[in-house]
Amino acid sequence: MNTHRKQRIVLKVGSALIAPQRQGCSSRYLLAIAQFIVRCRAKGLQVILVSSGSIAAGTHRFPQNAHDEQLSEPAQLALKKAMAAAGQTEMMATWDKFFDFPTAQILLTHADLRDRERYLSIRDTISTLLTHGILPIVNENDTVTTDALKVGDNDNLSAMVAAAADARSLVICSDIDGLYNKNPHLHADARLLPEVTHIDAGIYAMAGGSHSAVGTGGMRTKIQAAEKAVSHGIDTYIVNGFKESSFNELLAGRNPGTLFRGSDTPMLERLHWFTHTVRAQGEVIVAPQDEVHSAADCARISSDEVLDVSGTFAEGDTIVLRNHDGTELAKARSNYSSRLLKFIAKQDNSELVDSFTHQRRLIATQDIALLSPKATPMEEKS
Ligand code: GLU
Repeated sequence: MNTHRKQRIVLKVGSALIAPQRQGCSSRYLLAIAQFIVRCRAKGLQVILVSSGSIAAGTHRFPQNAHDEQLSEPAQLALKKAMAAAGQTEMMATWDKFFDFPTAQILLTHADLRDRERYLSIRDTISTLLTHGILPIVNENDTVTTDALKVGDNDNLSAMVAAAADARSLVICSDIDGLYNKNPHLHADARLLPEVTHIDAGIYAMAGGSHSAVGTGGMRTKIQAAEKAVSHGIDTYIVNGFKESSFNELLAGRNPGTLFRGSDTPMLERLHWFTHTVRAQGEVIVAPQDEVHSAADCARISSDEVLDVSGTFAEGDTIVLRNHDGTELAKARSNYSSRLLKFIAKQDNSELVDSFTHQRRLIATQDIALLSPKATPMEEKS
């Protein structure tokens, strides 16, 4: 495990380890994990724990008939959120009793992470806690999230937290030893990949996805997390969290699972945040662009080149810019609302368009993440 950069590691532990019976918390697997955290700290590493399990922990607080399958979808969702609220304290209390140093609870939503001011505030809080020897325990704030506001899974959340904390390593606990070239539950000759140097469609296919049945549940979001983390220079391990030996190996500097090596040329902090944490609220298709090789080329695209608009967004919101043929050009901030762009797209009268747009550019110059492989990023302003 590479421990140079900021000496900080993020450890992601899922519900199956915390609540193996799918309800309440159990120390069965947590003891080895807690020991790993203690030993990392004894080596001078700062540890951040991303822990799931609030929903599973809260389940038994509600009577069996509360889980009635006849519940409408909104009622089921409300029940899950209530379980998360009831279970979060139990999950925190379970972790807390393993340690003789203090822990701190951080509950986040995607709405917090995508807002630059809140994101910077989260970074500060995490750093301050670590400086004072307190173990931050992070989870998604399931009680307040809607689909539009949530990260949705703690694998991706752990990568966002690792990037925010400038961690050196991210360790994601899984229920199998790492990434296999095919599903080890179905294929006896499946091979564990000890190291992945480049994450591409082939790697996602091994993890299994909507078009593939070979993978193991949950591996896809782990690969997404790895992709986010490595581009920030963070070494990412997927290890078997059910085996104590995984943690002993990590402590001995060996790789017990699959290592995705952090990039030697990590993205700049703000560009990484914009690329991997901020999400687009809509899409805009523009007239043919032949010469888009850089963010500066994207920034030159003008509002009267808009052909089509989808989604609902306000001025300043994030959009994906597509060329006329549908290929992605960039993720960027729109200088216009979707309503105004839809109006502009329908107009032939350029004078009328000018009167609405004052010939402003379609996107803002700060926060342009290029999506075309041949393009090069524009210099960053933080
Ligand atoms: N935040 C959810 C919980 O605490 C878990 C999400 C996940 O496991 O990815 O139950």
